[in-house]
Amino acid sequence: MKYFILFGPPGAGKGTHAAPLVKKYNLLHISTGELLRREIAAGTELGRQAAALIEKGELVPDVVVEGMIANTFAANPHVAGFLLDGFPRTVQQAMDLDEMLESRDESVTGVISLMISDEEIHKRIRGRALVEGRADDASDEIISNRIRTYHAKTEPLIEIYREKGIYNEVDGMGSIEEVQGRVFDTVDKLI
Ligand code: AMP
Repeated sequence: MKYFILFGPPGAGKGTHAAPLVKKYNLLHISTGELLRREIAAGTELGRQAAALIEKGELVPDVVVEGMIANTFAANPHVAGFLLDGFPRTVQQAMDLDEMLESRDESVTGVISLMISDEEIHKRIRGRALVEGRADDASDEIISNRIRTYHAKTEPLIEIYREKGIYNEVDGMGSIEEVQGRVFDTVDKLI
């Protein structure tokens, strides 16, 4: 079973590039952000609690997203692999993912990291806000907090995965087609 992590700051293009990736490599896409937005739309208790944090640009507790990941793994035993999008986002989540996979005699196959500048993050999220209407894209203050959260809590994962020798950085600047070509080239080498 293949376990790919699509990594990068908010607005780097993870959602955009996940769709062609899962199609080409026959993977199951797990976006924790998307799963949380579904809980919010369904009006569940989990959704209500998550919304309060998401709308401030904060992360939801590790245990919540890890539960969603474990449930999705368990519910899909026969797929060729998974593409994790937006998870892990903290060192604790990365350690817990390793443990989850070790218990299945598996490990992370590769991390594909889309990199863009903070300036580009602001620009892209402002554009996305006009199209998708996400509450956490709504103001510069929330976007700045998400960028701060990324640098403080998520960026440290780069060093962890680099040390494991599974970190693959892709320049996320340029057209969608250009970036997609780089992403496919990277995954081709890992498959
Ligand atoms: P995304 O769609 O990946 O940008 O996620 C939207 C929001 O959902 C994030 O800003 C967080 O508030 C929350 N979220 C998504 N994935 C995670 C995660 N792995 N850990 C904690 N919070 C998450």
